[in-house]
Amino acid sequence: MVSNICVKKFGGTSVGSTERIEAVADRILKEREKDSRPYVIVASAMAGETNRLVDLANRTYLGFRGPAYDMLLASGEQVSIALLSMALEKKGLKAKPYLAHQVGIKTDSMYSRARIKEIKTEPLMKDIQSGIIPVVAGFQGVDEFDNITTLGRGGSDTSAVALAVALKAQDCEIYTDVPGVFSADPRIVPKAKKIPSLCFEEMVEMASLGSKVLHIRSVEIAAKFQLKLQVRSTFEMTEGTWIMNENELNTSMESPLVTAITHDTQTAIFKLVPLPQGAEVLAQLFARLSEKGIVVDVISQSEIDQGQRLAFSVPVEDIIQTKQVISEFFPKVDTTVLDQVSKVSIVGVGMRNHPGVAAKFFNVLAQNKVPIHLVTTSEIKVSAIIDRKDLEKSAQALHSAFGLD
Ligand code: ADP
Ligand code: ASP
Ligand code: MG
Repeated sequence: MVSNICVKKFGGTSVGSTERIEAVADRILKEREKDSRPYVIVASAMAGETNRLVDLANRTYLGFRGPAYDMLLASGEQVSIALLSMALEKKGLKAKPYLAHQVGIKTDSMYSRARIKEIKTEPLMKDIQSGIIPVVAGFQGVDEFDNITTLGRGGSDTSAVALAVALKAQDCEIYTDVPGVFSADPRIVPKAKKIPSLCFEEMVEMASLGSKVLHIRSVEIAAKFQLKLQVRSTFEMTEGTWIMNENELNTSMESPLVTAITHDTQTAIFKLVPLPQGAEVLAQLFARLSEKGIVVDVISQSEIDQGQRLAFSVPVEDIIQTKQVISEFFPKVDTTVLDQVSKVSIVGVGMRNHPGVAAKFFNVLAQNKVPIHLVTTSEIKVSAIIDRKDLEKSAQALHSAFGLD
């Protein structure tokens, strides 16, 4: 059974100052005028706040992960939900701020990248029945030991989607500082255009390839429970981008070959040479990295003059932990870290049945004299890790070449 509850999530920029928080309260009031559905609000920390907290942690103990780190990072959302609740009260609405433990957002204990296991909806349902708008802290949860956990950077989207699923909402609205999902990050590709709708699969790829407009797990959960998402502007009253099932999309026109260009500046490459012989050692290395919650992305192994060379990419935030694991396994192997690199990718379900898309991708990079470090492809994406300095020109050239300008 579907409820008529509407979950609305406001991101960091949207609540970035007390003026903006007031504007969000106004926006909620305006939405209220044309829509009598009960609302549940989810908010992120004020823009820049989580970065500030990460910096404090790094200055105190670089590379530390554990309950203290998550407690620190989660504090940003406590401030924004309290302020937003006050702003709503000031507008004459009844509102109540909730930290994750008060709602019962239970997660595992993988600190700084925890996964939601269950959500108790009773406290929220009680409020809703009394006409109160719950304002829930995004990004955080609580584990079985009552420690505060966090869901990974950008995780408020996942809080909102998980809440919407638990509350059996029809859809979930993600309010942000852009009017929707664009054919590329408008900050990098000025000619990027808003996409009216796209399917879960494309959005999962885009999110996993670094398009930070949505947290990847929020899209995975939405896909699993067939919950429609709308990404829309906090500041403009316009329809945003709908993310839904592929067969519900408007397919009256042939879908474009490539739907979007994405990029990720938060990636780093490790190169190890010469590697000891034997596959077990690699299996053990990657097992150890995964135990630490480090997601290894692209992997390549090749034979060069000095012997076997292993190259793989990891998120920048995991560089220190990855170095620790490598020195445990291969204290004597020469290790190079490239941290001035970025990943650029093309995504689209349209490329499924069309050969030659990868060839065109490599051609565009070659024409622009962009060297490639690592490559990976799937049915609906082609990615390359390139030097950071080549990112803008590559993304813009690919955007034009695939007809997205
Ligand atoms: P919020 O704080 O609201 O969660 P984020 O900064 O996490 O916002 O996500 C919104 C940002 O995502 C935009 O400002 C934009 O720069 C970036 N972005 C990256 N790729 C895209 C894309 N394809 N479409 C729209 N925005 C994108
Ligand atoms: N405040 C958290 C972050 O900056 C979560 C979020 O914004 O979604 O990563
Ligand atoms: Mg975000």
